[in-house]
Amino acid sequence: MKFESILPPDIDAQRPIVIAGPCSAETEEQVMETAKGIASKGIKIFRAGIWKPRTKPGGFEGVGAKGLPWLKRVKKETGMYTAVEVANKDHVFEALKAGIDILWIGARTSVNPFAVQDIADALHGIDIPVLVKNPVNPDLELWIGALQRLYAAGIHRLGAIHRGFSTYDKKIYRNLPLWHIPIELRRRFPNLPIFCDPSHIGGKRELIAPLSQQAMDLSFDGLIIESHCNPDCALSDASQQITPDVLDYILNLLIIRDSNQTTENLTELRRQIDYIDEQMLELLAKRMRISREIGVYKKEHNMPILQSPRYSQILENRSNMGAQMDLNTDFVKEMLKEIHEESIRQQMIIMNEEK
Ligand code: PEP
Ligand code: MN
Repeated sequence: MKFESILPPDIDAQRPIVIAGPCSAETEEQVMETAKGIASKGIKIFRAGIWKPRTKPGGFEGVGAKGLPWLKRVKKETGMYTAVEVANKDHVFEALKAGIDILWIGARTSVNPFAVQDIADALHGIDIPVLVKNPVNPDLELWIGALQRLYAAGIHRLGAIHRGFSTYDKKIYRNLPLWHIPIELRRRFPNLPIFCDPSHIGGKRELIAPLSQQAMDLSFDGLIIESHCNPDCALSDASQQITPDVLDYILNLLIIRDSNQTTENLTELRRQIDYIDEQMLELLAKRMRISREIGVYKKEHNMPILQSPRYSQILENRSNMGAQMDLNTDFVKEMLKEIHEESIRQQMIIMNEEK
């Protein structure tokens, strides 16, 4: 896939490209007040949910199409471009009719290939940028599949939004970042712009700044942040919305490192890393060969594969060893668990082989 710019010509592509606005459009006054606040901070793209996907019925499900003229007014009075979420064909037609500039597909829609295909069909032949949020479940292929459906419909102005992945265990994050997934997306499609949505990942105001910084350090192109003129009274996602002033404060504190500067020193250090990785892999391959030999031994002597005391002892003394070398104990334990699991898999193969 070869993507084209999602940005109108008068917006420069300097990182971070910021999209901001309320989770939901609630009233014309709330939309206008928030939009004026956001525009006064120099932000060029305004978001607002018009149709809201809610987990359970009975909550605030968005104002619906009657909010679209409010966004028209935002565009006219502030000059900002407007973006809304679409989840079906009707939403697409309504949004296009209202002159919305950018569409996004929400996380509960991108999980469903039928719904994405319907949206792609409705957009066939229309030149509008579309941003695709990751599906709620951590499935990179499904995310890519949604992008491909749109691309095949002729939508080449595409972007991705990383909004985290649903989890039962909501300790720190509302949605787990699982950064390796957007990183892999970037590796597979280097010219696809990726936005981070720290509001939905964190679920709380305090996490917006650190998550935005992490996204910038990982070379994301942009941020989509929920901002409301009166966050505490928001009808949806109140705990993760911030005022335009706080938004501006957070954006000003971001440190943007230029990813294109490769110095001589860095090149040399990278060579060393490449060399060390190669050695690590060689050692790992050797370790697996030995594990398989142990597997053969266990099979011949009719011994079980898993010997728990030995495993606990390995975990314990290796993580102490790692700690003495300034390695994070949890990291060492996790790594050994993975290696151990692979050894077990290898030994199982040997056990099940015919003599
Ligand atoms: C939103 O952006 O308000 C939204 C509903 O997000 P998500 O699809 O990421 O849950
Ligand atoms: Mn929201």
